[in-house]
Amino acid sequence: LHLFIFFHLPQPTPTAAMSIQERTYIMVKPDGVQRGLVGNIISRFEQRGFKLIALKLVHATPEHLEKHYADLKGKPFFPGLIKYMASGPVAAMVWEGLDAVKTGRSMLGATNPLASAPGTIRGDFALAVGRNICHGSDSVESAEKEIALWFPEGVVQYNQDQAKWIFE
Ligand code: ADP
Repeated sequence: LHLFIFFHLPQPTPTAAMSIQERTYIMVKPDGVQRGLVGNIISRFEQRGFKLIALKLVHATPEHLEKHYADLKGKPFFPGLIKYMASGPVAAMVWEGLDAVKTGRSMLGATNPLASAPGTIRGDFALAVGRNICHGSDSVESAEKEIALWFPEGVVQYNQDQAKWIFE
């Protein structure tokens, strides 16, 4: 019986598009968690066709957040940013899919919500740059660093059968 199943399961044909899979670190910030937007934000990434490969709620320490935002150390808003990010739990996620970093950023909207187009997460839910609901990696390189920082335990590997309906 096992042999029968093995030989008769339709295997998705690997294509160029499916092989350019990227990972991005997406985080719902404390204001997004408090305002009950975690589900909405997860839905947007699911519906777009991305695959969720890691997810947890974390109440991060200032030290951890200073590592995450190391590039911004020295900015006048840095202390306030760390305080805001440590003020409650965040929803940490890793999403995988075609062009995940760039597409994730476009789904988030501009850093300043006033400049974010309606239809983006910040353009739909936020007004102030200091309370802009969500984070998304800005390059493949920072995605790798952020995933390692927030998920030292690694991500989850599983087959999701929808890829053949999303990619040619
Ligand atoms: P992004 O989060 O879009 O990658 P940055 O890396 O430039 O943007 O900034 C990180 C975060 O710092 C922003 O998402 C926002 O929460 C906060 N931030 C950026 N600029 C300001 C500002 N002028 N005042 C207050 N907070 C800011």
